[in-house]
Amino acid sequence: MANNTDNIIIGAGLTGLSAAFTLLDQGVRPEDILILEALPRCGGRVHTRAENDLLYEYGAQWLHGLPPDNMFYDLLKSRGLAPDYALDTIDTRVVVTADNTNDETFRQINARYLHEAYISFKADHPDEDISFKDLAARTGQPSAALLSFFITRNWLGLDDPADVSADAYYNDIAAPAGMLLKDGMSSLIQMMERKLTTHGVHILTGTQIHAVEQTADNVTIRTPDTSYMGARALITVSAGVLQSGLITFNPPLQPSIKNYINSLIMGSLTKIFVPLQEDFFVARALQPNTHLNIMMADLPVFAHIRTNNKPLITLFAAGANNAHYETASAEDLLSFVRDAFSRFPSLQGFEPYLKGPISATGWASDPHFRGAYSNAKPGVKRSDPMIDNRIIFAGEAFNAPNEKGEENYATMESAWISGQKAAALMSCKPS
Ligand SMILES: Cc1cc2nc3c(=O)[nH]c(=O)nc-3n(C[C@H](O)[C@H](O)[C@H](O)COP(=O)(O)OP(=O)(O)OC[C@H]3O[C@@H](n4cnc5c(N)ncnc54)[C@H](O)[C@@H]3O)c2cc1C
Repeated sequence: MANNTDNIIIGAGLTGLSAAFTLLDQGVRPEDILILEALPRCGGRVHTRAENDLLYEYGAQWLHGLPPDNMFYDLLKSRGLAPDYALDTIDTRVVVTADNTNDETFRQINARYLHEAYISFKADHPDEDISFKDLAARTGQPSAALLSFFITRNWLGLDDPADVSADAYYNDIAAPAGMLLKDGMSSLIQMMERKLTTHGVHILTGTQIHAVEQTADNVTIRTPDTSYMGARALITVSAGVLQSGLITFNPPLQPSIKNYINSLIMGSLTKIFVPLQEDFFVARALQPNTHLNIMMADLPVFAHIRTNNKPLITLFAAGANNAHYETASAEDLLSFVRDAFSRFPSLQGFEPYLKGPISATGWASDPHFRGAYSNAKPGVKRSDPMIDNRIIFAGEAFNAPNEKGEENYATMESAWISGQKAAALMSCKPS
């Protein structure tokens, strides 16, 4: 059976939802917009779950940046989408290193070495990029190499500093921390979904597409048991899904699009949730939203203590740690947490305070995501949404630097902007 709609959007993550809003702004009729989503829910990598009387952010956690300068929040507000927020200003940042520095000095000094090496490299090679690995080597400081490894793991979700583009990192405008939503990030998605469906936009969840075919006249989207025909299709699945080949394209993707997708690398980030009783934090005077950075070669881990002012610790196990912990047993998770917490005296003795099981997310092994977010390999310039006649590709990975050279990728904001740009392309005539 073929169902006809003008504009078909694959994926109801932020990119897909933002594109639908923009199409409505452009005067497209709601009945001419159809969103197909594989999962039974909207939001994609924005996903809050209520567990142990707490809200766990499985995916995105911060709207990066603070009000009044958080452009993304202003944009949401202007659309009547303004969920209640709390702030995480990182008032307390703890750094633990092998020699127990336990202050900010290690991070600050080595961040300065790396940055100075980058400035000096760019002065000599203004048009070239350099990997984090080579940058750290230029500093001549082994401690800078350790910091570059920590950033590679815990900010980008990668294993090897050789895969990190210094251009992307130093031009990235996503500030650490920022705004947390009091009712969870999914409250924003629910508001968006409600608005779109109230307008009459159709969102079909539980609809996994596996093939996209285009001719001169139309595009056909196939699921195992039905198909949808449209004038154009917007594909917003992650770069990891596109790389996995789970969706086939006929005719095959244009080489420029394929090459771009393959030049991206998905970061892996597992969140491990440790729900504790409030007493644990009070007795140890651990402040809300304390950021703990364990910068040790054998255990480079970031932990968000009292996440969103709540008695919850979220550990970010990234890169090689990730593959193991996504599927780890409860005992393995516990021993990982025990090991991490043993590095910081204030977290020792946590076990009697556990108020529920320790659990972990599974983004990399999930076929709907295949990773947490995209990184561009050194030397690769981010692209805006790409168009192949009737098919457009967009998502957090498809947002080129702005005119000032500032990069915004792998965030909720970049997904939103990419969706807007893609919607503008949807009104272009196929060549
Ligand atoms: C652990 C983690 C932490 C993060 N932290 C932050 C943060 O603090 N702040 C921030 O700004 N960003 C953060 N991000 C990134 C942010 O979540 C993403 O950049 C953004 O949500 C991506 O949106 P998207 O719409 O481009 O992609 P997605 O959210 O991946 O949406 C694509 C949709 O396509 C669907 N899909 C996949 N395959 C198919 C198929 N075959 N058929 C139909 N549908 C399909 C998926 O189910 C999904 O819903 C984080 C992400 C992760 C994973």
